[in-house]
Formats: sequence, C-alpha cells, structure tokens
Amino acid sequence: MHVGEYVINEMKERKNEIRNTILVVDDEPVNRLYFNALLEKLKYNVIEAENGKAAVEIYKNDQNIDLVIMDIKMPVMSGIEATRLIKNFDPEVPLIVVSAMTMAKEGVDAIEAGADRYLSKPVNREDFLSVVKSCMKSKTFNNEI
Ligand SMILES: [Mg+2]
Repeated sequence: MHVGEYVINEMKERKNEIRNTILVVDDEPVNRLYFNALLEKLKYNVIEAENGKAAVEIYKNDQNIDLVIMDIKMPVMSGIEATRLIKNFDPEVPLIVVSAMTMAKEGVDAIEAGADRYLSKPVNREDFLSVVKSCMKSKTFNNEI
C-alpha cells in the first residue's frame, strides 16, 4: 500500500467516526427513551431536553447540534415557541416536530414556526428514521455547496 492510499483510508475511517448529534426535546421520559434507542442504532449522538426552554438554552450553548426533534405540548415552554426561538437563532438547523396532537392546526403552527417537517405520534419507526436521514442529508448537502 502506498503512503497516499494509507492516508486516504485513515481519513475515511476518521470521517466515519464523526457522529452527528441530535437534540431530542420531549417532556415524557418514555418518548425520549424511544427516540434515543432508535437514533443510537443509527450511531447518532443524542442530547435530551425535557421542555422548550431547556432546549433553547442547550441549543444556544452547543454549536454541534445537527438536527432537532421537537414535541409540542410541554411545560415551561411549548415546542412551537422553542421552534421559533431556535430557528430565529439558527435558520439552517433541520428541525422535525413530532407531536401527539391530532388537530391539523398544530402541524400548520409547527411549520409556521419554522419546523422543516411535522410527524404525528405514535410515529412509525421507519417513517421517523427516513425523515431524520433525509433532513440530515439535506443539511450536509447544503453545507457542501
Ligand atoms: Mg409532551
């Protein structure tokens, strides 16, 4: 193996080690556990927040969050308000609202607040992971332009 090849392989391995980080925001511990388990299988780092206010604070203090998963109905600060604040701070971050609310209005509010996607609970595992992957991919794509 040439030295050049060795360096390229080494770089590829390092690149694979870089894990994307996802902020999961939900007031129900069981929901955070569920999302965490799905996302860790895909080798994402997961950070958790239990309400909108905590999520905004964590987001503003951590420059390495690549995607946000947001519940709507939470104490202290709702997911709609937190979505608005996070998107004002960083319009580029992909943000997916996942809510148990069944009214179509909640989806509209989420999108108006800046959410990129809206999914309703209970969320199907395959749908959830494919939306996460596609949002993450479009972010990477935008960064490379
Ligand atoms: Mg909730």
